[in-house]
Amino acid sequence: MTDLPTLDHWINGAPASGASTRTAPVFDPARGVAQKNVRMASTADLGTAVAAARAAFPAWRGTSIAKRQSVLFTFRELLNKRSGELAAILTSEHGKVLSDAGGEIARGLEVVEFACSMPTLIKGEYSENVSTGIDVYSLKQPLGVVGIISPFNFPAMVPLWFFPLAIAAGNTVVLKPSEKDPSAANWMAELMKEAGLPDGVLNVVHGDKEAVDALLTHPDVASISFVGSTPIARYIYETASANGKRVQALGGAKNHMLVLPDADLDLAADAAVNAGFGSAGERCMAISVVLAVDAVADALIEKITERMATLKTGDGRRGCDMGPLITGVHRDKVSGYIDVAAADGATVVVDGRGVTPDGDANGFWLGPTLLDKVPLGSAAYTDEIFGPVLSIVRVDGYEQGLDIINSSQYGNGTAIFTNDGGAARRFQNEVSVGMIGINVPIPVPVAYHSFGGWKESLFGDAKAYGPSGIAFFTREKAVTSRWLDPSHGGLNLGFPQHD
Ligand code: NAD
Repeated sequence: MTDLPTLDHWINGAPASGASTRTAPVFDPARGVAQKNVRMASTADLGTAVAAARAAFPAWRGTSIAKRQSVLFTFRELLNKRSGELAAILTSEHGKVLSDAGGEIARGLEVVEFACSMPTLIKGEYSENVSTGIDVYSLKQPLGVVGIISPFNFPAMVPLWFFPLAIAAGNTVVLKPSEKDPSAANWMAELMKEAGLPDGVLNVVHGDKEAVDALLTHPDVASISFVGSTPIARYIYETASANGKRVQALGGAKNHMLVLPDADLDLAADAAVNAGFGSAGERCMAISVVLAVDAVADALIEKITERMATLKTGDGRRGCDMGPLITGVHRDKVSGYIDVAAADGATVVVDGRGVTPDGDANGFWLGPTLLDKVPLGSAAYTDEIFGPVLSIVRVDGYEQGLDIINSSQYGNGTAIFTNDGGAARRFQNEVSVGMIGINVPIPVPVAYHSFGGWKESLFGDAKAYGPSGIAFFTREKAVTSRWLDPSHGGLNLGFPQHD
């Protein structure tokens, strides 16, 4: 497709074509056609970006915290004012409906606002007179060049989980966004420049495995923040760690919602539909399995089905509830799981394969789908489907529901719906999951708490943003200091003790 525009990298404050001639198509999923091409970096192109970030680091880390903070403040103002432009980019390349794109930006903005408080967040600690005449203090300093690798499903929010904090803390950044919807990253980098960010502090390199591998192994890259599927997260964690880098690698998910018999079933049904089909189920915090206690399962399914009948699938620019999937290949993979579930004995209560979309016939459509009695041994249950397919698994009570959740390889998010405070409190204590909702279906923590799962949903021990984000993007020095005084003289070969 040579007549399509080509999206460049963003290196040293300007678009850069790089040396590689490889490109990949970027689709408009609601129309099913390529709308532009994106460059795919070579190892050498990635090296150019790292060199720019490395060159920018000394001056940026030496810039006052107040100045760094003011760039973030201005970025926040600009992003707020121009969020409509970014939402249009997200809808056009990802397919999510415009209102959902606005929500993604709002949740990313939260982290920008959190990063604006860097002067407080990066404060060290001071202990006076720990031994006679000796003071100890700790400093938090930036790491250097940090690498960020983001997935297709949140092309703005996931980069915003990381780069504002990294930059406010004094690091410089090489961001490798998803090649499926890459334009948001360039748009944000350009806006950071408009906000006053010096060239080279935030660089965007597009590409695939070649660019990622170059980032993971580059000796001048201090850390890797990754978000994506579990197999790739594991690979990133192992490779980057073996290359001496600090790593946080957030992986895939299979999030369960446990509905106890005393729950408000209308609220639970609303929540299941919103959290199951928002963004066409392409959220790492989507609810993909409802664990319904037998006594209420039929009533709950009826309420969910009624609500599903009102959903409009179509072009995200036309006021629909749910947009297309990211690619035709992914749509076919997701719809294949409906066949798998049926073959394994599940009941297809609502089949999204026959959906009539409000949009171009060539779009990557799949309507909301509801499966009942999904066997735990079916790949439709065990795999992360990442699409608008909600599975019901019937359980005989709390204990069985909890066992199922705790047996999952994933531990990203979960929710319990109940009016029993004791059951909810037990659940938060007993469940092996990193983020828990109590009558809240998508419990994405606010920016001043940290985001991350357990088990195969997070490799490494640092969650994203919040206190974990600050710790991840800084390293501490402890300084023990004495200002000389004649009384401090004398020889003593023993290990220092306090007097
Ligand atoms: P993905 O793993 O396919 O891609 C993520 C990133 O890795 C992209 O930048 C991609 O270019 C790169 N990549 C892909 N294959 C690679 C390879 N072989 N070697 C090196 N790099 C490679 O994920 P995706 O399909 O873009 O995103 C969806 C996945 O992300 C889902 O599994 C979802 O659960 C997960 N996700 C998790 C969270 C979380 O916070 N835990 C948040 C959002 C998305």
